[in-house]
Amino acid sequence: MTPQQQKLHDMTKQLDDSDCWIWQGQVSNSGYGRVMEVQANRGTKMVSAQTASYHAFVGIVPEGHLVKQSCGQRLCINPKHLELIAV
Ligand SMILES: [Zn+2]
Repeated sequence: MTPQQQKLHDMTKQLDDSDCWIWQGQVSNSGYGRVMEVQANRGTKMVSAQTASYHAFVGIVPEGHLVKQSCGQRLCINPKHLELIAV
């Protein structure tokens, strides 16, 4: 894992009965995790935890798309459970 991937993974707890990575950090009013992300040459920005995970493990999120959990668990940031949704 890269340092950023490790940092995000360290902020989660794995549930016994699934391979969801449950976010243990800050949670927004909408029930999703959130985290301050350092962006190249653009300072820091508050993003959802699943977006930060997608960035760290998968890649960029194309414009007009959101990262959602395919497992239905709002606090899950396992990159294998993340998918792009067109908005
Ligand atoms: Zn999950």
